[in-house]
Amino acid sequence: MRAIGLVLSVAVMAMSTAAEARPKWALVVHGGAGVIERKDLKPEQEKAYREAMTRVANAGADVLKRGGSALDAIEASIHLLEDDPLFNAGRGAVFTAEGKNELDASIMDGSNLKAGAAAGVTTIRHPISLARAVMEKSPHVFLIGEGAETFAKTQSLELVDPSFFFTERRWQGLERELKRQGLPVPARPAGAPKASADTADLAHDEDGGRNASLLDVNKKFGTVGVVALDAKGNVAAGTSTGGTTGKRWGRVGDAPIIGAGTYASNRSCAVSATGTGEYFIRLTIAREICALVEHKGMSLQAAADQVIQKDLTALKGDGGVIAVAPNGDMAWSFNTSGMYRAKVADGQPLVVGIYKDDP
Ligand code: ASP
Repeated sequence: MRAIGLVLSVAVMAMSTAAEARPKWALVVHGGAGVIERKDLKPEQEKAYREAMTRVANAGADVLKRGGSALDAIEASIHLLEDDPLFNAGRGAVFTAEGKNELDASIMDGSNLKAGAAAGVTTIRHPISLARAVMEKSPHVFLIGEGAETFAKTQSLELVDPSFFFTERRWQGLERELKRQGLPVPARPAGAPKASADTADLAHDEDGGRNASLLDVNKKFGTVGVVALDAKGNVAAGTSTGGTTGKRWGRVGDAPIIGAGTYASNRSCAVSATGTGEYFIRLTIAREICALVEHKGMSLQAAADQVIQKDLTALKGDGGVIAVAPNGDMAWSFNTSGMYRAKVADGQPLVVGIYKDDP
């Protein structure tokens, strides 16, 4: 009898420890994956990225601490990233071969599997908010181009001139990429500031303007994404990007595609991806990770590693993901040398990383 009592009380203790260990809320952020090595980042650049990740994670955490929803936390965090020229989303987005900034974003609510996405928009300051409006205020999931802009005008979304997104270093990145491909360089966009030799900003370019071996477009980075768990136990995911430098023919990557760049379900997890979008689409990366958690009972980290380190790597794709589960587990996995990232949860300290060997 006493033995049974002991076993029971040990079991109760173990359960309550597990319950205590489960954070009420959690949030993970990424600012893109790619070739990001210590030798490529100057100390002030590294500092700027670490500070940006910290600021963005704290902004999302503040929303969650106040009892705000995962969707609100994601939107607040991604607004900061979209406004920050360090990242390839909103202001600071890369250019198409025609010299435009065509922006893509998506968001998904794990509590009801509602989702919204927009692609190829050029006048919406915060594409993530357009994606959310598509989810909440339209009967659709995915709007593109002019139609998406027409819908945006019916919503209280901030519209800007396309030149708002212009940054000199992204323009110079386009020039280099088009020359590399032997394609003509378009005229500077209307409204862009006059050409300037001053690219001494803190952003980390594909080649940093220094290293020719890093000119490969596949070594890009800067897409942004956030996944969150709120105090109600709901998970959500959001992703926003300018896509890839010199993209042509209306190319759209994985970021606005539900199941590829973004997925969320309270039955499994929430995922946001970054990397060579074509591979992420073919592997439906975000949904695949959640499916492994839901149907195979894999841990979040094991599922993310399976899909990124094995499946994506086998296909010779590159990039990474961040993920959060309703039980508060957080994970990231990437097969590039770096990924700008941060995670924070109720009762757990903020962790910021850039390189592979960061914690
Ligand atoms: N996944 C994005 C795209 O293919 C790019 C990136 O994450 O760097 O459009």
